[in-house]
Amino acid sequence: MTYLRCILKPGKDKPLIGRHPWVFSGAINEIDESCAKGDLLEIYSAEGEYRGTGYFNPESQLSVRILSFKKRPIDTSFFQERLKRALEIRRKVGLPSSSTDSFRLVHAEADGLPGLIVDFYAGYAVVQILTAGMEKFKGVITDILVSLLSPKGIFEKSPAEFRSKEGLLPAEGCLVGEPVPDLVEIRENGQRFYVDLKKGQKTGFFLDQRDNRDLVKSVSAGANVLNCFSYTGGFSVFAAAGGASSVISVDASAYALELSEKNMALNGFGAVHSAVQADVFEYLRQEGEAFDLIVLDPPAFCKNKSHVDAAARGYKDINLCALKRLRQGGFFYTASCSSHISADLFQKILFAAAKDAGRELRILSKTSHPADHPVSIYHPEGEYLKGLLCIAD
Ligand code: SAH
Repeated sequence: MTYLRCILKPGKDKPLIGRHPWVFSGAINEIDESCAKGDLLEIYSAEGEYRGTGYFNPESQLSVRILSFKKRPIDTSFFQERLKRALEIRRKVGLPSSSTDSFRLVHAEADGLPGLIVDFYAGYAVVQILTAGMEKFKGVITDILVSLLSPKGIFEKSPAEFRSKEGLLPAEGCLVGEPVPDLVEIRENGQRFYVDLKKGQKTGFFLDQRDNRDLVKSVSAGANVLNCFSYTGGFSVFAAAGGASSVISVDASAYALELSEKNMALNGFGAVHSAVQADVFEYLRQEGEAFDLIVLDPPAFCKNKSHVDAAARGYKDINLCALKRLRQGGFFYTASCSSHISADLFQKILFAAAKDAGRELRILSKTSHPADHPVSIYHPEGEYLKGLLCIAD
């Protein structure tokens, strides 16, 4: 198999020598004229050395994403190997298990498959194809998922947010098997959740906070808990499972709150729960009771590098407001899922908030995403979630 060729400018192959999987348009010197959106191509240094094989998109600043650093055909057996390895890794870390039936099978670059996310929810697969290059292999990927995991159904949920940058339209619908029911019941560390794979955010549930919800459970005994940006009640259920005496879920979405009520009831915690539809910024600024435990898990405030300063101000503001509502001796779990806000910067933001609030704050635990959301050592951009569990005096 011969592929089209792309030759880089002198010295611009350095990131590829370091196995970083992205080539930006400014690094390219020469490219085969016939190379079109989504085509596979081989990348060479200015000196003519092979550096990797990837797929091309002329409409994106990120022109090439590398699939392999070894010269080899990108064919069905390539995808079989990558997907089999991804599954093997999940199984080695104990997923799925008798208490957790939902997990991320493919985490894009970290699994050697840039542009692809696959989540499993109690036997249903949700696939997100984010790039034109991956789009070409949709059929191959679907067939392999069927043979590897025999899912009840495979649902595609490829969002506009990423695909528009690639000149692709959003795509949604059943790819294979039975249609996904309106609500799928899943299990996470022994708790039960209804997940709306079709109308929910991302692929339906924030599987990346699994370990952190368990951590919150461990400090919830007897607490009155405020769960901010609660979505469908993930942290609320675990706080109640840990013995919280009351849990308030606050979110802007009426639909998410409705599901959070269903999820609390599903686990037998309906009596301790109240759902409040509000803007968290406004809710926290109100005078009101002080809480024993506050969870603050907002959506990404920072979508690109140029927004870091504004996002940092937003994080400081919301953390400051939350700290003012925290009781003496209370626990605070605060998170950021913006990949452009580093763990170091996030800690500095919390320092500034604690200082302004005049609170003594001790970090008890630093958290990230769980083992089914790995990070390639060569692609640190894949690390996005950071959290701090603190106790405040
Ligand atoms: N902690 C959740 C995930 C949070 S996702 C879990 O473990 O499942 C972020 C949530 O923030 C979404 O549900 C969204 O509706 C909500 N949201 C975004 N901006 C908001 C705002 N200003 N006030 C309240 N909720 C907001």
